[in-house]
Amino acid sequence: MRNKNTEKSCKYIFVTGGVLSGVGKGITAASIGAILKAKGYKVSIQKCDPYLNVDAGLLNPVEHGECFVTHDGKETDLDLGHYERFLDFETSKYSSVLSGALYQELIDKERSGGFHGKTVQMVPHFTDLVQEKIEKAAEGSDIHIVEIGGTVGDYEGLSFIEAIRLFANRVGRGNCLYVHVVYVPWINTSKELKTKPAQNALKDLRGFGIIPDVVVCRTERPAPRAICEKIAAFSGIDKEAVLNLPDIESVYDVPFNVLKSGVLEILNRFVGDDSDPDMSKWKEFSRLRGKEWAKTVRVGLVAKYVGNDDAYICVTEALKAAAAWNKVNIEIEWINAEEATGKDFARVDGLVVPGGFGTRGVEGKIKAAEYALETGKPYLGLCLGMQCAVVAAARRGGLKSAGSEEFGAKEGENVIYIMEGQRGKESTGGTMRLGDYVAKLKEGSKTQGVYGKDEVVERHRHRYEVNQKYLLEVEKGGLIVSGTSPDGKLVEFVEAPECKFFVATQAHPEFKSRPLDVHPLFREFVKSLK
Ligand code: GLN
Repeated sequence: MRNKNTEKSCKYIFVTGGVLSGVGKGITAASIGAILKAKGYKVSIQKCDPYLNVDAGLLNPVEHGECFVTHDGKETDLDLGHYERFLDFETSKYSSVLSGALYQELIDKERSGGFHGKTVQMVPHFTDLVQEKIEKAAEGSDIHIVEIGGTVGDYEGLSFIEAIRLFANRVGRGNCLYVHVVYVPWINTSKELKTKPAQNALKDLRGFGIIPDVVVCRTERPAPRAICEKIAAFSGIDKEAVLNLPDIESVYDVPFNVLKSGVLEILNRFVGDDSDPDMSKWKEFSRLRGKEWAKTVRVGLVAKYVGNDDAYICVTEALKAAAAWNKVNIEIEWINAEEATGKDFARVDGLVVPGGFGTRGVEGKIKAAEYALETGKPYLGLCLGMQCAVVAAARRGGLKSAGSEEFGAKEGENVIYIMEGQRGKESTGGTMRLGDYVAKLKEGSKTQGVYGKDEVVERHRHRYEVNQKYLLEVEKGGLIVSGTSPDGKLVEFVEAPECKFFVATQAHPEFKSRPLDVHPLFREFVKSLK
């Protein structure tokens, strides 16, 4: 790794979007990062979003998808998950910048007299703060990528555009590469691609003082070169810098598409190094994923937001990658936790109960764990999925009314109870047990065997925990504790010694799984289904 590691030598890539959002700006940014990483650079990446929320902790997963958690405990949107998967690095609390948090910081400073009587303004105070956050997130990297959420011209995002324009004054234009991702629609009635929206989007960006170094034209099908050339001609941009990225089946093939588009020459010029990226592991993953294997495994995902891939994206991505490296095809079957019965569980080869909040569907998740304990069907429990497993075991062990305080269980039945210090904070953002915590694994346990070590660090996001007062019942019901916090106070892992694979954890291992380096719990779970 050629880590130059000084702030001065860091180069910055800014990725903005035009025409409309949701056309893969984040994946394009992450793919450029993956290519640069494959050239040997230390790459970091950050998302700036103009929402007034302070973090993503209280955002609804149906609308916004899964809430991702960084190692240092920030609740962010799912883009950071994509970044970690593509770049195999750990984002941090600096990797996600939301307007709400910036305003809060500025207002707090103003209230405490930090501006010494000056007027506080969007420019320079807000724009300076954005730049400060960018430099902070870039620390220690050779190349730092910044994705700006939304589309250029959105009223609420203008100050971010101004901030990234000003940024080039600070670090030098030659140290910045501006990439604008635009959508080029196909008009079915006239059977042609229309460049006008892209031209207008580039005009908007120019109006804010930024002439992009790269324009990425997103299209549903490959665009003829003439389309890119037309956009280049009408926007005063070098035609070699206008590239086409047509839709592709898997996001993990986007890095290859980006390479094919001709971006490498531009990146090489930007970093002053024309070495080829080593994409061999990506190629291997692509080959394994694209292959039709003899065996198909069926995984039942017992969930509340059925069919909403985004709401459990780290879990589904981890399962799919685990299948590819295990050389099997995978079918993920959504099982509606509110209606689930034994028949649904019987249909699949293994069950995954992911994290969740709120009462809806929780009995179905407990039933799934009961079914697995009784039949020996492989089970992987993640956070709420572990709490449900513990409730199921306690019920099997004789405590028929066992439940979680989150869902109304009282003293005498609360096998899952609220953590010390969490009472009364149930609807407050950013107050859960968040981020990395160490767990010690039980000597000789299956969990220890899966990880191949005695101590692990996993990310967390929970308020409730196992009440160790009921461990006798839980054990009678078929589960043992296989990992705890180092002081033994919190249960981090449980497992069913009688089952082929039944491991559940209070943590969210899915956040640390990578397509090119699958998390051992997912790898071994899928292997047990073969
Ligand atoms: N609702 C549970 C808790 O707060 C589980 C959280 C989760 O699954 N992320 O402890």
